[in-house]
Amino acid sequence: MSAKLPALEHPPTHPKCTATRITVAPGDGIGPEITAAVLVILSAAGANLEAEYMEVGERVYQAGNTSGIPEETWESIRRTRVLLKGPITTPQGGGYKSLNVTLRKTLGLYANVRPCQAYAPYIPSRHPAMDVVIIRENEEDLYAGIEHRQTPDVTQCLKLITRSGSERIVRYAFEYARRHGRKRVTCFTKDNIMKITDGLFHRVFDEVARQYPDIETSHQIVDIGMANFVHRPEAYDVVVLPNLYGDILSDIAAQMTGSVGIGGSVNIGPGGALFEAIHGSAPDLPPNVANPSGLLLAAVEMLHHLGRSEVGETVHNAWLVTIEDGIHTADIANEATVECATTKQFTQAVIERLGRKPKHLPVAKSTPQATPNMDAPKAERASAVTPSWPVEAKALVGVDVFFDWNVGLPEELATRLEAAAMSELALKMITNRGVKVWPNGHPETICTDHWRCRFQAREPGAEIAHAQIVSLLHALNAAGFDFIKMENLYNFDGKPGYALGQGQ
Ligand code: NAD
Repeated sequence: MSAKLPALEHPPTHPKCTATRITVAPGDGIGPEITAAVLVILSAAGANLEAEYMEVGERVYQAGNTSGIPEETWESIRRTRVLLKGPITTPQGGGYKSLNVTLRKTLGLYANVRPCQAYAPYIPSRHPAMDVVIIRENEEDLYAGIEHRQTPDVTQCLKLITRSGSERIVRYAFEYARRHGRKRVTCFTKDNIMKITDGLFHRVFDEVARQYPDIETSHQIVDIGMANFVHRPEAYDVVVLPNLYGDILSDIAAQMTGSVGIGGSVNIGPGGALFEAIHGSAPDLPPNVANPSGLLLAAVEMLHHLGRSEVGETVHNAWLVTIEDGIHTADIANEATVECATTKQFTQAVIERLGRKPKHLPVAKSTPQATPNMDAPKAERASAVTPSWPVEAKALVGVDVFFDWNVGLPEELATRLEAAAMSELALKMITNRGVKVWPNGHPETICTDHWRCRFQAREPGAEIAHAQIVSLLHALNAAGFDFIKMENLYNFDGKPGYALGQGQ
């Protein structure tokens, strides 16, 4: 670690408060420097924290640990359940797992919360009235990391959206809105195309929304939603999204506030909470130049989470006064800047303003338990989730078998499959990249070497047995087909749980 980190003191001003242990991972690049700055400010504000300093990141990766997180760091996080993390440098080359994704998924930190507020005119923004919180689902979607190369031409990434995961994040968004006095929650999905996966997220949003009649809600298709957001962010309050869209929108939103250098991020779930800046390790910066604001605002959220909301409010207001007084680090320096401060000067300026409130920017309010306690006993959480879970009859009605095949037209494939698969199941349809090519395909359709072939009972809609799929695969194997994957087709209460595959 290049920067010396302060030992956190227990100030005598809070005699009744016992110190709370937190895990601190300073990270790489500017990480140790901004972490030290933040801890000095917290200590001066009387946060009464005791830090367990742990290593994560580049050196750990380079020592051969592919996740970048040593065992003692995991142990510390399990003990404290709170991690304040500096940015890390991702080593070049393959073979390294994303440290952030590993932390989020291993600890079940299902919610990523990013408040994005403009501080104009002190930090210029084209959207001075912007004050939005982006709540991104953190564990599912295309980030499950289940990817395959299936044929010479085709790769795939599995998009997983669960009812339980969607319900957790949507409920979190509504609870967050209620506790923070926010009036509106907007959901973005692409369910006009992904009717089953994004459709589920949207449906769960509508179901949960009905339980919060005090909050206005709306749903927008993600493309036009993001376009509207960029045009008029002041029309949004809390936005909840599946993982990938949330990843994209949260960086866009942070940039729109004026600088990514002032964005803080919270990752939270029953396994703990991780607080970090949204920026990276900025290896291009010389010492004593970095802006510690992003990590400081994340630390403010950490204080709320730890029940030290008054201290969080004090630190937040001191930071707002510093910004209002025109004391800015180089990355946010502008016409309103009175003093272009180094990291250390900025840190000192915040400390000198502890106890003061901003005159023009909105005063930060103490929000007891700003991050809702989702760590309720399991039974309680289950009952909060289950009422909307209908018990449905699940019936197996067919199978999609995928083939690597590159030696002819769809009609030839159909003929060969029908000849090979002398089973009770009938070939009903072939698609290529989701477009139906048999029966009644169009000659213009560009085909790859990846074919999805749907087999169902000869009697329309009839239930089939797993054994019938096994004998189908035996027959296909005997005929020399390279089947690369299969997906069973289920009806739930008579409704298809699969896309109809017409290439909509
Ligand atoms: P970056 O965020 O580190 O830097 C982008 C630009 O913003 C640079 O010009 C940098 O100087 C500036 N900048 C960033 N933070 C600043 C701050 N606090 N004060 C002043 N200026 C700041 O992004 P990058 O250069 O693409 O990535 C550098 C490394 O960080 C990479 O290894 C990347 O993988 C990693 N990274 C880590 C995290 C994380 O740990 N959460 C997030 C993003 C990137």
